Amino acid sequence: MNEMYARERLAEVCRMLYDRNLTVSAGGNMSVRISDEEILITPSGTNKGLLNPDDMVKLSLDGEVLSRGKPSIEHRFHLALYRMNPETNAVVHCHPLYCTALAVSGKDIRCNITPEGVLLLGSVPTVPYFTPGSEKLVEAVAKEGRSMAMIMAKHGALTQGRTLIEAYNRMEELEFQARLQILAGDVGDLPAEEIEKLSEMRR
Ligand SMILES: [Zn+2]
Repeated sequence: MNEMYARERLAEVCRMLYDRNLTVSAGGNMSVRISDEEILITPSGTNKGLLNPDDMVKLSLDGEVLSRGKPSIEHRFHLALYRMNPETNAVVHCHPLYCTALAVSGKDIRCNITPEGVLLLGSVPTVPYFTPGSEKLVEAVAKEGRSMAMIMAKHGALTQGRTLIEAYNRMEELEFQARLQILAGDVGDLPAEEIEKLSEMRR
């Protein structure tokens, strides 16, 4: 993907996440793959509503910084996901309120209560808590790295996709499902045969 184009799209998605309250203040980090060897990632400690295309930091998949700026401290779990999933071209990590409410109360997210949840997400694992930026957190995320969405215990949420918009949509849907689960209380899943049918429709 053309680097300038990717910088603009990443800034746009950061603004969408910020405008939809999916990320607040300087929380979260987002990235996009621009070649087999390189990604762009949001800089460390910046408000995601105010980022310009030029602010994005270019990294090699080995973690070498290839442009000006300081990459997010969480860049290593982004790199791990790109390395293990050749299909992944974007990763979104943030702390949406309702996902984080589940994450801090030790509840798993349930995405099988509406058709859209099954179609976009399916079953979503919870990754155990480790300090942000630590190697242990990278290992824990990589262990669930085939999942397109995950909750991070006592921390937030993470999604990946073949495009930036796919990763963004998964995050928006994940937060919707978390909010729905909290508002609806103790509701049942869709019938098992319906979940199976919808899972087969997932592309
Ligand atoms: Zn975080």
